[in-house]
Amino acid sequence: MTAAAAIPSAPATGFADLHLHTLFSDGTFTPEELARRGATEHLIAMALTDHDTVEGCERMGKACQSLGIEFIAGTELTTDFEGYEIHLLGYFLDIHHPKLLAEMKKFQITRQNRIKEMVARLNGIGVGLRVETVFELANCQSPGRPHVARALAQEGFCASMDEAFDRFLKKGRPAWVPKHKVSAADGMDLVHEAGGLAVIAHPGLNRCDQAIPQLAAAGLDGLECFHTKHTKSQSEHYLAMARKHNLAVTGGSDCHGFSKGKPLIGGVKLPATYLDILKRRRHSVSI
Ligand code: AMP
Ligand code: ZN
Ligand code: FE
Ligand code: FE
Repeated sequence: MTAAAAIPSAPATGFADLHLHTLFSDGTFTPEELARRGATEHLIAMALTDHDTVEGCERMGKACQSLGIEFIAGTELTTDFEGYEIHLLGYFLDIHHPKLLAEMKKFQITRQNRIKEMVARLNGIGVGLRVETVFELANCQSPGRPHVARALAQEGFCASMDEAFDRFLKKGRPAWVPKHKVSAADGMDLVHEAGGLAVIAHPGLNRCDQAIPQLAAAGLDGLECFHTKHTKSQSEHYLAMARKHNLAVTGGSDCHGFSKGKPLIGGVKLPATYLDILKRRRHSVSI
């Protein structure tokens, strides 16, 4: 008797956005608004990846569920690889994992202290921004430079957020303060301990290609090949690297709200077949 042929599963259809921010970090949409916008874009799956926090995931999960959208609990961790800042996306996280929450608390405390230091430096060069203004505007545990930039624009110290970054906040400018980071290896371990998969975000923006083989050997799960700021040739380059190092392929808009008058969500749509491959990796890890 011959063995029955394996029934091929139907190819996954639809599109996902696996890189999104809300006002729980430096985005401007609530989780509910973001989920609604995902529905308008006909997304079948969305991952929330706020910087160094998972606080928005519960609300976003509920909002997605009510709209029939698959939700993936995630984060975007600030990590370091040999002096390069690498943003590490964690997916399918246990958002109640005690160690994950403890580590995130450390990130958040240092982010809040960094805001105070940035404002002190601004005050030192005669820009009279009040730290309370930034914290009121940020109204979250994981504040960042965009909140300072928005406050500078709101209070009339700059004409726009771009100007605030250019004059004061980007690296080398007077109010730039380095961020707390964990090593990329420790970040990956943390994500794995919390039941998740670890993916390098927007590698094209970080000049960190040399990190990919090493981190792949150390258990990296994927590479964000599709991103709003990647050129077509960058996406192709990272697709080839993902193939070479046996990494799953992910993608997302990195929407923080409105950008130049329109929201980025919907601008990068990851075909669902890639999400399926990512999920298979999850099962092979947990078995
Ligand atoms: P931080 O995590 O505090 O270092 O801030 C990084 C965030 O600032 C990133 O998520 C970027 O989206 C945002 N950002 C960087 N440059 C600019 C810019 N010129 N205008 C607006 N946002 C920016
Ligand atoms: Zn951000
Ligand atoms: Fe990032
Ligand atoms: Fe991001």
